[in-house]
Amino acid sequence: MKVVEAKIVVLGSQGVGKTSLVVRYIGKMFSKHISPTIGASFFTCNINVDGARVKLQVWDTAGQERFRSMAPMYYRNANAALLVYDITSVGSFTAIKTWVKELQSNVPEPMALALVGNKCDLQEARAVPHSEAKQYAAAIGAQYCETSALHDQGIDHVFLSTATALLQMSTTTLSASLRSYDSAEGDTDRVPTGDPTDDPATHTGSVELPAWSIASIAHGEPARSMCC
Ligand code: GDP
Ligand code: MG
Repeated sequence: MKVVEAKIVVLGSQGVGKTSLVVRYIGKMFSKHISPTIGASFFTCNINVDGARVKLQVWDTAGQERFRSMAPMYYRNANAALLVYDITSVGSFTAIKTWVKELQSNVPEPMALALVGNKCDLQEARAVPHSEAKQYAAAIGAQYCETSALHDQGIDHVFLSTATALLQMSTTTLSASLRSYDSAEGDTDRVPTGDPTDDPATHTGSVELPAWSIASIAHGEPARSMCC
């Protein structure tokens, strides 16, 4: 089985719902594991897609200004980025453009980008038109999705389509930081393979969560316990 190992970084202003998205995604299995975002934390998950396995290391970063200078550590060797804004906040959408410029000038390797408009449950307060975001996503070569971490909408799609893009990237693009290899272990039984052609609109890849890790490096604080 082909295995692709990739790092994905979640970027965006404070309060747009980055942590909520990540927690919602993994929370289906580990609902108790919720942590405040200190500097950044990561979890790993496996998504089976098209007969291959994509091992994702997902980094949730803190958008606060005091952590801003640490961001390069997280995105430097990332293979994908989720650029999250809040559809009710123009400022959070504008901030994405700064992130993209920063990525473009600091990350030499190709990246799979996904523009994520979160809080799509707040339609009546929408400040960023769907069309404008879609147009911008096309301009930067990103996928575009709207999500609601509150109602668990669109999130599986974001992760599955990013995994699919990474799998594609591993065969078509030369990237030193994107690891891919053939696994002969035959441990496929641990993760049932989804068939994305069955129902492309929903999450058909399967997710496995071998570990949750938190890396707290802000102000030299020790990593916080995950216990509630
Ligand atoms: P972060 O700073 O980007 O990690 O944002 P958080 O995940 O901490 O979320 C910030 C606030 O937005 C919290 O009060 C969340 O409950 C709220 N929030 C996150 N996602 C959604 C969503 O999809 N819809 C709504 N209505 N609120 C959300
Ligand atoms: Mg957070």
